[in-house]
Amino acid sequence: ATWTAGEGWHDGGVVPFGPLQLSPAAAVLHYAQEVFEGLKAYRHADGSVWCFRPEANAARMQRSCRRLALPELSTEDFIGSLKALVSADEAWVPAAGTGETSLYLRPFMFASEAFLGVRPANEVTYSVIASPAGAYFSGGLKPVNLWISTDYARAGDGGTGAAKCGGNYASSLAGQLEGNEHGCDQAVFLDSSTHTYIEELGGMNLFLVYQDGRIVTPEITGTILEGITRDSILGIATELGLTPEERRIPIQEWKDGAASGDIVEVFACGTAAVVTPVGELRWDGGSVNHRTSATDDKVAVAIRNQLLDVQYGRGEDKHGWMTRLV
Ligand code: PMP
Repeated sequence: ATWTAGEGWHDGGVVPFGPLQLSPAAAVLHYAQEVFEGLKAYRHADGSVWCFRPEANAARMQRSCRRLALPELSTEDFIGSLKALVSADEAWVPAAGTGETSLYLRPFMFASEAFLGVRPANEVTYSVIASPAGAYFSGGLKPVNLWISTDYARAGDGGTGAAKCGGNYASSLAGQLEGNEHGCDQAVFLDSSTHTYIEELGGMNLFLVYQDGRIVTPEITGTILEGITRDSILGIATELGLTPEERRIPIQEWKDGAASGDIVEVFACGTAAVVTPVGELRWDGGSVNHRTSATDDKVAVAIRNQLLDVQYGRGEDKHGWMTRLV
């Protein structure tokens, strides 16, 4: 669909996948006025197709749009676009009972107006693409090793860290490379002003699991992305006998807790992988390894299974999180 300053949203429809026509002067290519979302469509045993909390993705996209000075798309139109795309060729949603397979949906919106001045665009394009996704992990959960980025922050106060916009990901790539150079899969970003508090990974939120059953995650401060998986985990924690806590977490607390055994697991979470256990945490001058303690990722596995059961319609949807697409 296209949005123009005078007319609002118009010309919505489903078209075959193919290249976009875009002027080389399109504002998005120069000033990154762009936002996106990521969610999945799951096939249930009776053949129906569902999304997990799409109204939360719609609300987050609206917040991202406000931050990037883009027009908002209503929750109804957002969910409507997912329904239209999935119904157009439902066969792309993998069959039920084929393990953890789903159709990944990527809604995105960008400034398509051609002009070279710096101002919010008067012509904007919204689109959704889809891609079948297999199990993120084949053969069990694979722990990721993390590097504490010393040179880079992902987002700063007053910046776009809370928005799901491309610029944040561009900004996190050098940190990820820094981590790769130190033999790690991904980087842990700290707050940009004091370099003391844990924020998140380039594409996932973090939880620390304590021996006494507390699961602690960095509070929402305006510089981290409000993950829907993070929020859902906070919502089901007590049902699993865990005590959720949101607060600022000094990175030293992680290092000390892992070394003393007080922190028994750390995991990252997001739509793509649901939950990923952390293996080793490395930094300039040291490391701690979560695999040397007696951890068996008990909490990460329990949370993961609970969420997957709801998403694939195998478990009761107590929170009313599922929306039927087809
Ligand atoms: N943080 C960042 C920076 C992300 O890109 C993502 C993935 N959307 C997340 C956290 C996790 O968010 P969600 O659970 O909504 O996928």
